[in-house]
Parts: sequence; structure tokens; C-alpha cells
Amino acid sequence: MQYVIKDRQPEGLFRFFEDIAAIPRGSGNEQAATDYLLAFAERKGYWARRDELLNVYIKKPASPGCEHLPPVVLQGHTDIVCEKNSDTEFDFETQGLKLRLDGDILTAEGTTLGADNGNALAIMLEILDRDDLVHPPIECLFTAQEEIGLIGAAHVNPEYIEGRLMINLDMSDEQEILVSAAGGTMVDYILPVQYEPATGEGLAVRVRGLKGGHSGKEIDKGRLNANKVLGRLLYRLSETISFNIGSVSGGLKTNAIPREADLELLLKAEDVEKAKEILRAVEADFAAENGSAEPDFRLVIEPAAPRRMMTQGSTEQVTDLLTLLPNGAREYSQDIPGLVVASLNLGLVEETEEGVRFCYAIRANTDSFMPYIDSELKTLARLYGMTRVFLTSYPAWTYVRDSKLRDVALKVYKRRTGEDASVQAVHAGLEGGVLMGRIPGMDIIAIGPNCGDNHTPEEWLDIASLARTFEFVADILKELAQ
Ligand SMILES: [Zn+2]
Repeated sequence: MQYVIKDRQPEGLFRFFEDIAAIPRGSGNEQAATDYLLAFAERKGYWARRDELLNVYIKKPASPGCEHLPPVVLQGHTDIVCEKNSDTEFDFETQGLKLRLDGDILTAEGTTLGADNGNALAIMLEILDRDDLVHPPIECLFTAQEEIGLIGAAHVNPEYIEGRLMINLDMSDEQEILVSAAGGTMVDYILPVQYEPATGEGLAVRVRGLKGGHSGKEIDKGRLNANKVLGRLLYRLSETISFNIGSVSGGLKTNAIPREADLELLLKAEDVEKAKEILRAVEADFAAENGSAEPDFRLVIEPAAPRRMMTQGSTEQVTDLLTLLPNGAREYSQDIPGLVVASLNLGLVEETEEGVRFCYAIRANTDSFMPYIDSELKTLARLYGMTRVFLTSYPAWTYVRDSKLRDVALKVYKRRTGEDASVQAVHAGLEGGVLMGRIPGMDIIAIGPNCGDNHTPEEWLDIASLARTFEFVADILKELAQ
């Protein structure tokens, strides 16, 4: 094999990275890559297992004198996101990635690089391969199908994992140590509604120009939720005008902040101008409140001709609910400044056969917040006769107040660089939470080398940073062996 990275240390680390990059391994297509891992383990004489989901477990005994220490788990995911430029001819099922090195920056030609999470594989293989390192017993966990919903992690066999200290290697900033991520619950509430034939003048109101974004990471950025904008419009109209809702909808999926929403109203002809005035006044209120976060927000108001409309009673209930339904950041961390630790996003509103469906993504960095927030929704459901439809839930990676691993990592980082690492947490789902749910009592940190533009053909990796991250891991293991 022709290697792109030459004369760089540690040589084995980069060999492993390139060997893995040569094997197709899109999510769900991990067979060949796991064959490679198992063949490696067999050559080394290590205990190894592969489960039905194609998660791989490899155990390396402690270095001499460290056999009595608790094992340390290293973890990363085998699969990659397969994205390419439209003018690149490439078959992710059969072809290996074509790497290109420019200085210290590694990319792939026209495709994702798979440093997310080839970094972890290379580091784990180099740790497993070397016989000059000092360390406790090592357990390496290679998960499958991470990129399509943390699927491998959700099926990890806890019997294969003895260690309760885990270093996840799926981060992308050398200076950061991640210590918490959010769990999530997807739940829908359905309000039965009654319709009657439309009468009166039709008016469409469209919420446009909002930024949207990730319903966890961007929930505290002051962005407007298009569905909640509808609630405010409806309430303000209801103070002075009588109307019926012709139709209502907003958002595309529960885990994105909705950017657009649509409403059709039926009014008395003589109220149309008044309604427009009120709508424009509310639009101006929003602009004054959110102009810097949402500079392009606007209402499009135009004639409409719906054939049916909700009854007065249903119209009032939908107005009440879009006004009352909670949304946004709800709780902030007392350990990590600025971190949202509980939120909910009314991501989708749609009319279905059963009624108006309100679809939520609830997120929390401590599991107990999820049922707490859901209790507000359940209460509204009881008051308004809504049905609750539970869809999925996965656990949080909770911040561990007394974390031996975090303390050791911070100490080693400071010794290596003279600086303090930045302790980070995210309000989004990661494998750490899923694994914490599978294996109770885990103490987890996540680290990784400088890399970026993940999931795009521009994905890049700083290979000098990868080498330093390998050394950082080796130093943490050595410190844990003291
Ligand atoms: Zn990843």
C-alpha cells in the first residue's frame, strides 16, 4: 500500500489511520473494517469479540506490574458519513478514500475523510499495538452505526466491558475535554379537532426567514420557533377579533428549530384589515425583540381560500395550546457556566387524521429533567384532552461531580502543555450517554485532535494534533497506572 503520510512519528499511528481509510466503512457497512480489527487482535493474541451489530471489543492485558488496576475503556466509532462532491466519481461501498496531505492537514479527494472517527481507531490500534507503554488493563470498544443514530452503542454488550473509566475519542478540538452530553426524548401530543365548511374571508399568514438550527446546540441562541410565533399571532388576534383556523402547520422535524410555519384563517370581511394591522404590529414586536438574532424574520400575509375550518371550540383550543405549550431552554448547569441542561423544542405541528399533532424533542444533560419537563406537557394533555404518543428516548451523559478520570486528564493536560484544558459539555446526544445508560457507573471523558468540517467533503485533520492526542491518551493511561 502507498502511504501518504511519510516519516512522521508515531509511524504506527498513521499507518493504522491510512489502513482504515482504505477500507469502505459507511454506516451499516462496517463488516470489512471489523474483519480488519479482529485480524489485528488475532495477530496480537488479544481477547476479541464482535457482536451482531458489528461492535468490536478488544482487550489488552496491563503492562507488567499494573495487572491489579481497574481497566480503562477506550472508545470510538468505526463508521463514517459518506459525503462527496457532486463532481467526484466515488463508490463508498467498494473504494478506499484517497488521502491528500498538505503540510499537517490531511483531507480526502472530494469525499469525507473519516477522521470522524478514524482518529479513534488509529489511536486505539496504536495503544493496543505498542509494547513500550505503561498502562492498566485496556478495553477497546469500536462501535458501529454511530452516525445514523448511535445504534451500535445502544446495543453494546455490557458483559464484555469491565472498566468503568472510559475515554471516548470522538471530539474535534485538542484543547477541550468533554464531560457531559444530553439525552433525548421524542414525544408527540395529539389534540382532536372538529371541522366545518369554511365561511368568511380567507387569509394566509406565513412565518418566514427564521434561522432554525439544531434543537439542542442552538436552543439558547435566541432563535425564534416558528410554531410559537403562530401562538403569539393567534393570541393577539383573539383579543379583538373572532376567527376560525382553516389550517395550521409548521416545522419539518422534531429535532430542528422550525424555520417556517403556516396558518390559514377565516374572518368576517370587515375584520380583514384590522387583522392585518394586528399581525403587522406583532411582527414589529418580534423585530424589536429578536432583530439581532433573527434579522430576516417576516410575515407573508396573503389571501387564501380553505374549504374547511376548525369549529370555534377547536380554534380556541389550538390558540390556547400554541400559546401555552412550553418551548426553549429551561434549565442551566450549576457546574458548567452557560450550559443549557434541559430544553424542549416544539419542532413540528401538523394536522393529521387524529387531530393536530404537536411533536417535541426534549433534551436534558441529567435524565430526571426529561420526565419533569414532560410532566408539564402531560398536564396540558389532561386539561385539553390530548393523547400522548411516546416515540423514543435515550439517556443523558451526566456530569460526574467527582470524576477521577477528569481530574487525571486535566492534570496530565496541564503538565503536557502548561495550560488548562477547557472543560466542555454539549446539549446534544452523543455515544457517551447511550453507553452510560448501558453500563451503569461509567465515568467518561471525550477528547480528540483538531479536525473539522465533519460530514462534508471538506473534512480535514491536523495530523500533528492527532500525534499529540495519541501521546495525551498514553500519558493519561500512564498516570492512571501510577
Ligand atoms: Zn463521530
